[in-house]
Parts: sequence; C-alpha cells; structure tokens
Amino acid sequence: MNKACDIAGIEPVVVQYLSQPKRVFEFTIPLRMDNGEVKIFNAFRVHYNDALGQVKDGTRFVPNLDLDTVKALGLWMTVKHAVAGIPAGGGKGGIRVDPSRLSRLELERLTRAFIRKLPLKGAWVDIPGADIGTNAQTMAWMLDEYEEIVGYHSPAAINDKPSEVNGTAGSKEATGTGAFYLTIEAVKDLGLENGCSVAIQGFGTVGRMIARLLYNEGFKIVAVSDILGGILNQSGINIEKLESHMDLTGSVIDFLGTTSISNDQLLETECEILIPAAVESVINSKNAHNIKAKLIMECANGPTTPEGEKILEAKGVTIIPDVVTNCGSAIVCSFERTQGLTDDYWDLETVFKRLNERIVKAYWQTAETAKQKNISYRNAAWVNAVIKITKTMKIRGWV
Ligand code: NAD
Repeated sequence: MNKACDIAGIEPVVVQYLSQPKRVFEFTIPLRMDNGEVKIFNAFRVHYNDALGQVKDGTRFVPNLDLDTVKALGLWMTVKHAVAGIPAGGGKGGIRVDPSRLSRLELERLTRAFIRKLPLKGAWVDIPGADIGTNAQTMAWMLDEYEEIVGYHSPAAINDKPSEVNGTAGSKEATGTGAFYLTIEAVKDLGLENGCSVAIQGFGTVGRMIARLLYNEGFKIVAVSDILGGILNQSGINIEKLESHMDLTGSVIDFLGTTSISNDQLLETECEILIPAAVESVINSKNAHNIKAKLIMECANGPTTPEGEKILEAKGVTIIPDVVTNCGSAIVCSFERTQGLTDDYWDLETVFKRLNERIVKAYWQTAETAKQKNISYRNAAWVNAVIKITKTMKIRGWV
C-alpha cells in the first residue's frame, strides 16, 4: 500500500490514516461447553476503512487467529472492494477457535454469541460473511441471531447465507467464475492464444471451478494439484473425467493417463498460464527463476512473495494480482446485499452476467493504469484503489 501511495502521490497524513484500521473490536466469549465446563474464546472484528460504504467480509474461525492478521485482511478487503467498484469498505473478523473440536451445538452457541457481542452490525454498518472455518450454516445462525436481536427480518445483514434464508445464487461459484472471465480478458490483453496451456495448483472450490470452465472453453489443462500432490499430462487432462475421479477418491492424484508430480514441480511446469489457487507464498525467490508461464492469475490470496514477484517481473511475466483475480466473491457478496435490501432475488444467469460486467471493467481499469504508468498490474490495482478511497475521504472531509 505504501508503494501504491508513493506512485499515486498520496499525502503523508492520508497514508497515515490508511495505514491503520478505523475501528477495532477485540472481545472475549465465555462458552458453556456440552459437559458444563466454561471455556473463554478470543474474538476480533476490524472495520478497516468505510469511506466507500458499509464494511463487509469474512469471519474466520481458526485456532491461530490474531489481530494483526485480521487488520491486514481488512485492508485487503478495503482495496478489493475499491478495485471491483463495490460501494463498500473492508471488514474482517473471527474467533480464535478450532471449530472441528466443538460439537455442533457448541459451535452454534459460539457463533450466536459472536453476533450478540459485535457492537456495530447490520446492512448499513458491517456485514459479516464466511471465510476459513465458517460456512453457509454458520452464516444462517448469524442471520437468525441478528434478526432475533433487532426484531425484524434483515437478510442484507449477513452474507454467504444458504438460499433458504435469502442467500444469493452463485455464491460458491463466484470466485472461480470471476477468475475465468478475467483469464479470457488477460489472454486477449497479452496476445496469448485462446486455448493455450494451463497449470492449476489447488483443486478445491476455486481451482476446480476455473479448471472446469477453462477446459470447457478449449484450454489445455496440463497440470493440476491438491494438497496430496500433482498430476501432469502435456497433451491435456480431461477435467470432466478428473472431477469424477476426485469425487470417487477425494484427490486428483493417481488419475489415469497422467504422471505424478509434486506441488513444487507443478509451479515450474511448461505452460502459458499458471493459476495458484491454494495457499499463500508458494511463488517465491526459490522457484521464481524456474517458472515458465507467461501469465500468472492469482486466485489464491497472496500466492506470490514480493521477492518472487521482482524476479518474475524481470523475466517479463505478467501477474494479475489477487485483489483483481479473486474479487468475484466480493462482487457476488455485494449482489447478495442488494438482493436482500430489495427482496428481488436473481437467477444464476443474471448473477453471472452482472459479475462478468463488473469484474471485466475492474480488469481493464487496472490494465489501463498499468500501461499508462508503466507499472505492474498489482501496483496499478492498488494505485486505483488508494486514489479512489483518498478522493472519497477528502470529499467526506476526513483528511
Ligand atoms: P479450498 O479449501 O476449497 O481448496 C483448496 C485447495 O488447495 C484444495 O484442493 C487443497 O487440497 C489444496 N491445498 C491446500 N493446501 C495446499 C498446499 N499446501 N499445497 C498445494 N495445495 C494445497 O479453498 P478455496 O475456497 O478453493 O480457496 C483457494 C484459495 O483461494 C485460498 O487462497 C483462498 O483464500 C482464495 N480465495 C477463495 C475464495 C472463495 O470464494 N472460495 C475467495 C477469495 C479468495
């Protein structure tokens, strides 16, 4: 962010304001366990910046959650919303807990307590969504508790809900589908061949979706991996059959007609497009020299370290950054709020059509700034975001 502010010529006082969250809530939740014992859990919620609108985004239930992580993720969401043209600020929160160690009833009580103890919440203030360790069921409990507190229905107050309680169509497919739309744009932008070769790390919600869409579009998926390892076939992998194999075995490994490779080898595979869709920091100074792809679409959050990026930049590799590539879920979450506020629920086709319009616009705005200023797509996305947020803060009279 400092680099983006530097390029954009943002004044030091604004940088100082943007370098810290607007509000931080840190609280404890005593939970009566099923055996009668009481355990204390630590919870956090950060409203990073709400110049553009109410804050929103994920709620993480993980055992190692700390406030610094939540703050950083809040900034990330602030930027993602600005890049995607969403009238919202960035928020993030969660509980330091391993949900797999709680019974269903304990988890429900903890989730409801989290919402009760959140000091500021609702469709016009802060809209929690799902993240690691939370899911549609968690969000249904949050919504129900919120509606009990306020005494009326308010589906726009919580995101990532199941369709039974006015969740949106396409929420699970949003990130992979958005990243697919952008891959098509990036291929045009860089003059790559439509249907060129692709390697994908991660075959979960996002990786599987983008693999399926690119395969159906005629791209040659040469390598795929999950946490257990990778598979390679330079002539192309049949993704439809791979999905059946995955459903049957729970992994991509040992798929007929492919060679086994490691996750490290996958990143260095001979291909035009590399799609990291698993975890952070996998592309770094150790392997960047050996990466052969011309284009990297960052579906995962933070898959490239700054040192790795420097090496790739020198090699002429284009990286479409996470805040652009994976902002599909943020866009569809904002659609979920709009639908909740208007009680007008859209079909999947409408959601994807509007997602396509919004995300493609975000791509070309980023590309234009990158070309105009001769900077990377990552810097361009952050520059556009800090300029937009700064302008709004100035109009509001904050700085
Ligand atoms: P997921 O849990 O559904 O899938 C993750 C995949 O990565 C799985 O195939 C898993 O086996 C694999 N994996 C896990 N650890 C790995 C490792 N160390 N090495 C290689 N592979 C590993 O997760 P997801 O929802 O598909 O999210 C993937 C990435 O996209 C994450 O970085 C996430 O933060 C980011 N993201 C997801 C969404 C979303 O809507 N799901 C939105 C924005 C960003």
